Amino acid sequence: MEQIVEKIQSRDPEQYEFHQAVEEVMESVRPVLDRNPEYRQQAVLERITEPERVVMFRVPWMGDNGQVHVNRGFRVQMNSAIGPYKGGLRFHPSVNLGIIKFLAFEQVFKNSLTTLAMGGGKGGSDFDPKGKSDNEVMRFCQSFMAELFRHIGPNTDVPAGDIGVGAREIGFLFGMYKKLRNEFTGVLTGKSLNWGGSLIRPEATGYGVVYFAAEMLATRGERFAGKTCLVSGSGNVAQFTTEKVIELGGKVVTLSDSSGYIYDEEGVDRDKLAYLMQLKNIRRGRISEYAEKYSGTVYVPVDPALDHNPLWDHKADCALPSATQNEINGRDAANLLKNGVYLVCEGANMPSTPEAIDQFIDAKLLYGPGKAANAGGVAVSGLEMAQNSMRLAWPRDEVDSRLKHIMKSIHHTCLDAAHTYGADGNYVAGANIAGFVKVVNAMLDQGLV
Ligand code: GLU
Repeated sequence: MEQIVEKIQSRDPEQYEFHQAVEEVMESVRPVLDRNPEYRQQAVLERITEPERVVMFRVPWMGDNGQVHVNRGFRVQMNSAIGPYKGGLRFHPSVNLGIIKFLAFEQVFKNSLTTLAMGGGKGGSDFDPKGKSDNEVMRFCQSFMAELFRHIGPNTDVPAGDIGVGAREIGFLFGMYKKLRNEFTGVLTGKSLNWGGSLIRPEATGYGVVYFAAEMLATRGERFAGKTCLVSGSGNVAQFTTEKVIELGGKVVTLSDSSGYIYDEEGVDRDKLAYLMQLKNIRRGRISEYAEKYSGTVYVPVDPALDHNPLWDHKADCALPSATQNEINGRDAANLLKNGVYLVCEGANMPSTPEAIDQFIDAKLLYGPGKAANAGGVAVSGLEMAQNSMRLAWPRDEVDSRLKHIMKSIHHTCLDAAHTYGADGNYVAGANIAGFVKVVNAMLDQGLV
């Protein structure tokens, strides 16, 4: 196993996030390989860590002032053993092949856990939508799709949103796909409601995180009511996580963006959340404006060079990281523990570093890793695909109750797999093992392809 990791590292030495994601899974599945010698003979680890296909392409686009720009586009089609590739697109200046590969790798396990027939993929670009006009974003999306369209399809690969890609971008991408293919299909998820989107898809990731956290709390006979929660981020996941926490009687005291965070001791209520949604989704403003509007709230700018994030250094019961990868490091984890946090449930993908995770596991925290806890988003994407295929739209309650059911089932599956391999209560081991076994068995059933 060490040799496999070494080979992956020496082949692509700069893909740190991918190495990190692979190492975590390898550690978890070691006992599975020990019990199943044929997995080694069949080189399942080597096969599952090598993408089935990687597409990289030039994305030229013109700014409003006539200046031409060039960005890099990616789609990593990681694994199609249990269904068409499925996973979001991320538009963010930090995007590179290593980040897209880590996200695609995580997506394989996450999608496997949802119980739906979806393989794993991920894509995106180093394009930064921040500060761009709607027209610039449209031209970028059209240029991006002018290449991507030949690699995707409703039964091949179904992209969706992620950081920097929401309903606006999905609309522009879909329009271009439809024009190029002359086909109206469910090739993207996260579409707007009136042209093929699903109810509850915008809410799904955040709601799902809270449903998963509630299941974890229930194992200790507890509920969300009265709990104080630290939430990071202020995008789609953070917004609907906050909405569900409020609905269940909990209190969210922090939210953040790339420049800093707000601390609202009284808690974000429904009116403040509505203001935040309008600020972030319509006006595309900064979180600091929240503190200007609501007295009694403090805004804390955060220097990214700092060795910890002060957001994680407040008294609370729960932490729901909903911003981005590696946002909780070893020092942040120590601060969380010191402040009495006993539940960490991840809305973002891989928000905790390996040093942070080790502390959570050692302290026997209720720790829900992203690939299990935030699977509600892609699960409802799967339900959007199902509705598109039937040319039907389910009512809100139907989608929400299916989402709840799926999150419960993921929670149960994780605990079950962890128990089978002697790692009781360890959701990291459980998620990795359960996700892995299902995909690997499907790969073996289908022969050496
Ligand atoms: N980007 C989301 C994730 O990380 C959703 C993907 C999807 O809906 O396909 O799972």
